[in-house]
Amino acid sequence: MAKGKSRSYTHRATVPPLYQSAVFDFARVEELAAQIKSGPAFPPSVDDLTYIYSRGGNPTQRKLELDLAALEGADDGLVFASGMAAITAIALSFCEAGCEIAVGYPVYGDTYAVFADLLPRFGVNTTFVDTSDISEVRRALARSPRMLFCETPANPSLAVTDLKAAARACKRCDCLLVVDNTFATPVNQNPLALGADLVVHSLTKFIGGHSDLVGGAVMGAKELITRLRLTQFITGAILDPFAAWLVLRSLKTLELRVQRQNENALALAKLLEKYAKVARVYYPGLASSPYHRIAKKQMRGFGGIVSFELKGGLRKAKRFVNRLKGARIAVSLGSTETLIQIPALITHRIVPEGVQESLGIPRDLVRVAVGIEPTAELLAHFRQALKEL
Ligand SMILES: *Cc1c(COP(=O)(O)O)cnc(C)c1O
Repeated sequence: MAKGKSRSYTHRATVPPLYQSAVFDFARVEELAAQIKSGPAFPPSVDDLTYIYSRGGNPTQRKLELDLAALEGADDGLVFASGMAAITAIALSFCEAGCEIAVGYPVYGDTYAVFADLLPRFGVNTTFVDTSDISEVRRALARSPRMLFCETPANPSLAVTDLKAAARACKRCDCLLVVDNTFATPVNQNPLALGADLVVHSLTKFIGGHSDLVGGAVMGAKELITRLRLTQFITGAILDPFAAWLVLRSLKTLELRVQRQNENALALAKLLEKYAKVARVYYPGLASSPYHRIAKKQMRGFGGIVSFELKGGLRKAKRFVNRLKGARIAVSLGSTETLIQIPALITHRIVPEGVQESLGIPRDLVRVAVGIEPTAELLAHFRQALKEL
């Protein structure tokens, strides 16, 4: 084909094509130079052909960004190499030496490490707050933080933050509210509609949903996303086009998968609650949860993660996890198969042992991320393992 001729390779494909291309070429050097002069390529739409280099934009990534933005009711979105790349890019884009950040707890182990260990090395001061208590949020805001970062429901305790109240408090003091919505998914909760400024996802989890890719995303107002896009362009943590294509495939079944996961998790939480051998169940969908009222207000479903403690502590917890059939002993969550682990020893191991308990991560907590198997099958496996305990 002649150089620079308009090309259409899509052939009315029903599935969005995979642009496995790092580079996009131009008919004349002046045309390419004109694009570079105006800065990195930030194409406004998937139809825009000013892609130059896939670190600055790629049509497959872009299609996914727009679809994710639509799911969260955002102006714009940006996809990353991982959830952690997305969170780090937010910190790099909106903080600098001397600024304060407030972080809700608990949070994912590596998120804790970014805020507790990495950022302080660059002069950023982090305060951890129990954002499920709105008076604690107000107290943290008195320090005039640049940003309040929280997860709701939180990993692994499923503590819920009242997002409307937190957003109102943040607005009053010009503090950016960033919500990690990985546990809820856009099917169950839309933080931007409740007043958050940015929403983050680990695409690795429910959105990817099949344990076969690692990715992250941020959605929000165009102005904020543009700032993040520049950070991503110069630091490089982009989502590979093939991984973006796989996520596009996952989006088709997201709602179906999450609905089944909601049902499975609620049924499992109700089952666990009935056993005398179970000391405590953590699930915002249970009427007995201290977060049920607020969860019902801001969520459409309660998600696919259930945590619990057994009587007999860590020894019993390990025994149970090893005995349970029908669940993989693995990190991650939101997949089609049920995954089980002990956060204090694994996903949140990076949080110092002496700090774990005070951040809402009991040593013997067991976290289950349910899959999409038939509910009766899931419950039968748990009944059997509890019987054998
Ligand atoms: C897994 C996870 C992350 C990190 O995402 P990666 O894709 O593993 O980098 C961030 N937040 C939450 C709540 C998570 O569960």
